[in-house]
Amino acid sequence: MQRGSNLPAVGVYNQALVFDLIRRSDEGLSRSELAERTGLSTQTLSNVTRRLANEGLIEEVGKVISGPGKPRTLLALRPHSRFAVGVHLDPAVDTIVVVDAAGEVVARAERVPDAPDASPGELVGRIGEGVRSLIVDADLPRDLVLGVGVAAPGPFDREAGRLLDPPLLPAWHGVAVRDELSRATGLPTLLEKDVVATVVGEQWFDAEHELADAMFLYYGAGLGLGLSVSGAPVHGRTGNAGNIAHIVVDPDGPLCECGSHGCIGVVMEAGVLLAQAETPSTGGASGDATSQLERLSALAAEGDRGILAALESAGRHLATAIVEVNNLLDLGIVVLGGPAWSRLGDRLFPVLDHWVRTTAVSTSTEPVHLRQSRIGADSTAVGAACLVLDEALTARTSQLMIRG
Ligand SMILES: [Zn+2]
Repeated sequence: MQRGSNLPAVGVYNQALVFDLIRRSDEGLSRSELAERTGLSTQTLSNVTRRLANEGLIEEVGKVISGPGKPRTLLALRPHSRFAVGVHLDPAVDTIVVVDAAGEVVARAERVPDAPDASPGELVGRIGEGVRSLIVDADLPRDLVLGVGVAAPGPFDREAGRLLDPPLLPAWHGVAVRDELSRATGLPTLLEKDVVATVVGEQWFDAEHELADAMFLYYGAGLGLGLSVSGAPVHGRTGNAGNIAHIVVDPDGPLCECGSHGCIGVVMEAGVLLAQAETPSTGGASGDATSQLERLSALAAEGDRGILAALESAGRHLATAIVEVNNLLDLGIVVLGGPAWSRLGDRLFPVLDHWVRTTAVSTSTEPVHLRQSRIGADSTAVGAACLVLDEALTARTSQLMIRG
């Protein structure tokens, strides 16, 4: 538990710390509960909560009587006091969401990505237009929108806020997304790797801090693994941490673009799974990634034997990769999400759970726990919005960025 300080110089930190406790509580907290949890004096706490109320972030929601003495007044989050936009740039579909201060989605739009020959100006312009119209259509006061978070596959230049050459997003190579989108929308903008955004999003809803040490598997057009160690998302030195695609799990498996056989990224590809099943009904691995995934999940739902066998084998290989990472970092919890996971997770979960628990490769002294994403298919877009909430509203020893 983080403790507050009664020194005036760290008032801003206290404000964020108290806000964090209030927003994570189900029904609100009283000032005496807050004093107990933060170690702040009654006077400091009264100043802090007054400032939060003046900024519109919290409100009094009623009184509770417990034991003798005065009834306690509960303070709770005002969810519609602030909003943040999240953009997930994905090869299959771009998703834009607006979330409130509680992280709940209040508006959402999807758009088919532009053709690979679109200019950077067109790409950014259309995303910017999507963000603007979502804010207008949802009738949100613009001054309450804190900013835009963008999540994209790596590699990217974190310092410059620019995508480098992500293989899955050819049209976006070299585009300075952060500054150009900020210019297009007039809003502060952050850019992070997709799996890092996913970690921040899941942790925003993690009231009990159970995910302080955890990994977050993103299974979509690509496969990524976000990491959190001691409560902080792992960015790595350049912001590009979280690639597991080229861990070899099946040396006799399909050829990967890197030249190796049986990398976990290629083993989990929808097209590869369809080709592996080799039944006439699968129609081979033709079509784009989205239609392949749709066909794969439809056949799995029908109980197609070849597809079920392919998923069984893929789940076993995925367990090997996850356990290897867990052996390295001892994180103990795996959160599972992403668009492909949303479609195939029902089939993959039991296989993965079985092999993660029983594989001889594991060196962990406790079982590794799997759990579904709290957010679901939009975990990365919501996570991108949570990057902004986190930057603006979370207790750190650095400055608080609330604009109001
Ligand atoms: Zn590879």
